[in-house]
Amino acid sequence: MTEFEIIAHYFTRPSDALLGVGDDCALFSSKKTIAVSTDMLVEKTHFFPGDDPFLLGRKSLSVNLSDMAAMGARPRYALLAISLPVADEAWLQAFSKGFMAQAERYGVALIGGDTTRGPLAVCVHIIGELDAELALRRDGAKPGDEIWVSGHLGDAALALAHLNDEIRLTDEEAEFCLGALHDPVPRVELGLALSGISRCAIDISDGFCADLSHILEKSIVAAVVEYAALPCSETMEKYRSTRASAILSGGDDYELCFTASPEKSNDVRSIGERLGIRLSKVGKIREGSGLVVLDEAGREMKIGNKGYAHFS
Ligand code: ADP
Ligand code: MG
Repeated sequence: MTEFEIIAHYFTRPSDALLGVGDDCALFSSKKTIAVSTDMLVEKTHFFPGDDPFLLGRKSLSVNLSDMAAMGARPRYALLAISLPVADEAWLQAFSKGFMAQAERYGVALIGGDTTRGPLAVCVHIIGELDAELALRRDGAKPGDEIWVSGHLGDAALALAHLNDEIRLTDEEAEFCLGALHDPVPRVELGLALSGISRCAIDISDGFCADLSHILEKSIVAAVVEYAALPCSETMEKYRSTRASAILSGGDDYELCFTASPEKSNDVRSIGERLGIRLSKVGKIREGSGLVVLDEAGREMKIGNKGYAHFS
């Protein structure tokens, strides 16, 4: 297959853009503020050689959708730059299926990209819309705000620990945790629902403490978090005391951490009920700087490795 056959066959779909795949640029217009973001997945850094291409296709879009969610933006368009060592049709078929089904699920049109030969890497660029004044910005936290987390934390980190032979999960537990690692659910509907209720969110991709710390730095505030309040799956619960780092610093959760004033507490709860997403209140924003995590006895926990950072 040539580059152009690959594009025509696997990456060209009808779209609502003025001009989609096939010209030098795609064209679209919008009356709203545009939100843009890009996220790259590289073999051996973000995924393993031989990982399921269907799930990789889906995850490459999901991690970008997660950025849209964290901003409270409605995703509209995506571009896909892909570097492939060989044109393996079965691999491309599965990758495209995973990517395109997720695009359809979230109302995203693939309107362009680039296809080259090289080491396996996938870079997605995502474009969404929002009202600028309602954006969920990292600098939007205020002293007195409560800190919330969606879903549960640490399952993807447990999967990695299992793959690295650091822990031994049962088959059932491994299946569940590997699902969290390979197939994260972007919280797009939650991000949209928080519009007007929260001013500040981040998606947890590098680890809870690291990502909350980004909020604290940008908002110039401090936070106190209760470890016992951090939400866990049944599997992670078994490791809560021995593997706290999975919850505090494990990456790849793609849950949202957001803040809201205490008066909005009931609104937040009803959003969780309406969307069927567990939303947990885990701490408070204070004046000052820095993050303190308290254990069940109210003692400050030592947070070792704060989160994942490339080049560190
Ligand atoms: P150019 O030579 O201008 O870079 P290309 O030949 O790379 O254009 O791409 C042709 C068309 O196909 C362009 O519209 C480009 O956006 C689109 N395209 C290329 N690769 C992909 C891909 N992986 N997914 C979606 N669209 C793609
Ligand atoms: Mg090109």
